Amino acid sequence: MTRSFHPPVRTLMGPGPSDVNPRILEALSRPTIGHLDPAFIGLMDDVKRLLQFAFRTQNSLTLPISAPGSAGMECCFVNLVQPGDKVIVAQNGVFGGRMKENVERCGATAILVQDDWGAAVDPHKIEDAIRSHPDAKVLAFVHAETSTGARSDAETLCGLARKAGLLTIVDTVTGLGGIDVNVDGWGADAVYSGTQKCLSCIPGLSPVTFSSRAQETIQKREKKVQSWFLDMGLVMAYWGGGQRAYHHTAPINMLYGLHEALVILEEEGLENAWARHARHHAALAAGLAAIGIEFVVAAEHRLPQLNCVRIPAGVDDALVRRRLLEEYQLEIGSGLGPLAGKVWRIGLMGFAANRTNVLFCLGALEALLARTGAVAAAREFYGP
Ligand SMILES: *Cc1c(COP(=O)(O)O)cnc(C)c1O
Repeated sequence: MTRSFHPPVRTLMGPGPSDVNPRILEALSRPTIGHLDPAFIGLMDDVKRLLQFAFRTQNSLTLPISAPGSAGMECCFVNLVQPGDKVIVAQNGVFGGRMKENVERCGATAILVQDDWGAAVDPHKIEDAIRSHPDAKVLAFVHAETSTGARSDAETLCGLARKAGLLTIVDTVTGLGGIDVNVDGWGADAVYSGTQKCLSCIPGLSPVTFSSRAQETIQKREKKVQSWFLDMGLVMAYWGGGQRAYHHTAPINMLYGLHEALVILEEEGLENAWARHARHHAALAAGLAAIGIEFVVAAEHRLPQLNCVRIPAGVDDALVRRRLLEEYQLEIGSGLGPLAGKVWRIGLMGFAANRTNVLFCLGALEALLARTGAVAAAREFYGP
């Protein structure tokens, strides 16, 4: 007989999923109701309003896609990009590469603008690309590159695109709830996120928001969106208010979870959440510096929620991560692509961005690397 599955209790300090707030786990276990139940419709209205708050937008087309962040990415591309279009894609890590792949699968041409892994997207290169490709329709870039820990200047990049009449697609899967995401302030057109990073919810939903310009572009499409499931025109008939029509069965309990995550964010306040991420990042950085561990990203472009640091020479990457997991029940992330084997990615996302986790992680690293001073430095940072 197969027995029930009981996962180990870990501390999740990798690139996501992050530790889920117990309030959210409790919300997930509440009774399932029908997806057209009037009580559920009320929850959907709340989720939309709370997402508008989190994204800092008035966009009416703001909702969670019933699938992970990658589906939010795909949703933005398949709705805004038509066959034959030209799209400028900034790549400075893994996720820009996936954007290029999405553009090409839409039958469009990607103009790739590359920056080093660990660098922010260079606005000057984007400006040049826009000038060299006056027929480009869309600029796509990653706000918070989880593979490297770099933060790009979304306001400047969106500004360049708007000035030249391009729409923007912005990946802020790791940004939302951890650093400022200001969709209306940036003038961004299609923005997607995820639930399992700084919202500390379970994986599997992807909040998206579309500007009125993006909505007009979708309405004026000549060709149908090639994905039936992700066609925003159809999804809207369910999420749009008024007479709701069946599109797919919403993941009811996951939406209870997202609702709770957003209620928690509203209670804390956006600025307070960003300040908390910044503070615990600074404490972690102070501790890591004390044991000679260096960051990949220059200080001014670092994401507080994703700390990408160089593995010290002579240290066995896989062995340390295995010991962290087995002896400390602590997960940190490994490097991806050209950074594989060279870096660790220490997440301080959402609920996991707290003093206990910072001290715990530094203590474990100190012990496994046989170095001293990390915990003391972080404690000194926090003060009495
Ligand atoms: C995690 C992540 C994604 C993908 O989200 P999934 O939920 O894993 O599909 C996309 N972009 C960035 C920047 C991410 O960090």
